[in-house]
Amino acid sequence: YTQAKALVFSRFGEPSDVLHLHSHSISPQLPAGAVLLRTLAAPVNPADVNTIQGTYGVRPAFSPLLGTPEPAAVPGNEGCFEVVAVGERVGGGLKRGDWVIPAVGGFGTFRTHVVVEDAERMLFRVGGEKGVEGLNAKQVATVSVNPCSGYRMLKDYVDLVDLSVKSFARGEGATGGAWFLQNGANSGVGRSAIQLGRLWGLRSINVVRERATPEETEALKSELKELGATVVVTEAEFLDRSFSARLKEEWTRGGKEPVMLGLNCVGGKSASAMVKALSPKGCMVTYGGMSRQSFPFPTGPQIFKQLRFEGFWLSEWNKENPTERRNTVNEILDLMREGKFRESPFKEVEWNWDTEEKVLKDAIQGTLEGFRGGKGLFVF
Ligand code: NDP
Repeated sequence: YTQAKALVFSRFGEPSDVLHLHSHSISPQLPAGAVLLRTLAAPVNPADVNTIQGTYGVRPAFSPLLGTPEPAAVPGNEGCFEVVAVGERVGGGLKRGDWVIPAVGGFGTFRTHVVVEDAERMLFRVGGEKGVEGLNAKQVATVSVNPCSGYRMLKDYVDLVDLSVKSFARGEGATGGAWFLQNGANSGVGRSAIQLGRLWGLRSINVVRERATPEETEALKSELKELGATVVVTEAEFLDRSFSARLKEEWTRGGKEPVMLGLNCVGGKSASAMVKALSPKGCMVTYGGMSRQSFPFPTGPQIFKQLRFEGFWLSEWNKENPTERRNTVNEILDLMREGKFRESPFKEVEWNWDTEEKVLKDAIQGTLEGFRGGKGLFVF
């Protein structure tokens, strides 16, 4: 028997109130279509906390399968697992020692081990032909949410690469690729968009929150510029009346270079400032609401600037585009292997047999607090 532990919850609420660490044992007799996995690493994303709170777009099903006192769900959507044992009739070339990531949402990654039935459908073997050479478990565990979101949002709403090529071809004297604008630029998604944007020849205007001291703010700005950000401003600079003039005069050659895509992670006033900054016929893609404030859909800009407002939800995109999803993940893993894409900073939380419940719960509870050195990552 394999001894396993999982974080579980049986009702919605704050992680520190509703999560419990549950021990159970896993039988060595695997169903024919199942595999046994050992978790190597799993990050805590904002969506995981919202799921535990019951405020996320999908609610998990509570199940009695783990033998908990009440039916329960295991939180966590993302993670890297090693295949420990394979049932007799598992196809798809899955074998012991392979690394896999969930192919479906709501997988439940905050646990030491998991038996996965219908393994071929539920799992995605990492790296295809190339396997996992040149990659570590932390990279694999965190590739499928933040980097993929940045990737799809930069590609699927406005063809910025085409825009760059056309403006060069017209001899407009553009000094670089097409612009995009994003708030929450220090987030995992934001850092991914910065790096991919640079790789694709785009330029970015990035909004971050001010730090406790000017020195720390400058350090954050430099760090993002080193990743590939063209311009980094604070929320205060972005909300200031002078921003429109600066956008025109300092960065976009008197407004001749349009800003056609805005990625909105924050909502509230920051989103309203984004509406103002976008060029006519531009598109604003909302994917997060970190400020917990909504923003008005102002009538004037919708009509007179003909702005487009879109919402992005990776879970839905994944369901609708399973093949493209694999390609996106593999492409980003290749960039990681080549040293062209850096994962975001993490605060590692070791999860071994003796780790106390409180340590694990605290790592999750702190996720939405902000001003952190990195997101929580369970390493096993
Ligand atoms: P991270 O934990 O990496 O980063 C969170 C960011 O939010 C930090 O940069 C933090 O800024 C910022 N933040 C926190 N509170 C506030 C606030 N009150 N005002 C402004 N900014 C704030 O998060 P992720 O990159 O994983 O996710 C970012 C957002 O994107 C989340 O809302 C998440 O749910 C969403 N998301 C949505 C997806 C989708 O499919 N729609 C997919 C992936 C993510 P600071 O650095 O200053 O602390």
